[in-house]
Amino acid sequence: MSKPECIVSACLAGEFCRWDGATKANPEIVQLVKQGKAIPLCPEVLGGLGVPRPGAEIRGGDGKDVLSRKAKVINNENEEVTEAFLLGAEKFSEQAKKLGITEALMKENSPSCGVKRIYDNEKLVDGCGVTTALLLKNGLEVKAVE
Ligand code: SF4
Repeated sequence: MSKPECIVSACLAGEFCRWDGATKANPEIVQLVKQGKAIPLCPEVLGGLGVPRPGAEIRGGDGKDVLSRKAKVINNENEEVTEAFLLGAEKFSEQAKKLGITEALMKENSPSCGVKRIYDNEKLVDGCGVTTALLLKNGLEVKAVE
């Protein structure tokens, strides 16, 4: 087995961890994980949220604003889940640090993993998710995967 070179959104690796219980398996990423080159993790599950779970969006900004407590994460049952998102981001980032990983491949459009786009009122807008914001803050190279 190779040493892991990157950390990836678990849903891209074929895990059924999305809010709706689905996966977003990407064949190249599934292969990287099989070869031991990538570690799959889901920040929302790491943060204590279940599968399935109510969908969530960032309100008042993007992931960077959540980190600086200027924005919140609210689910579609109108509950605030900011703390779970922040905890998941911390745990995801800690794993990367522990393994000496400096690159992440993240699922675009997610309120945790989005890199260039996230949803706002069910429309895609520019911005990153909470975990991506923390990875970027910590100096990782983050690439978006659709
Ligand atoms: S996009 Fe990120 S938070 Fe959402 S299911 Fe995939 S790994 Fe989990």
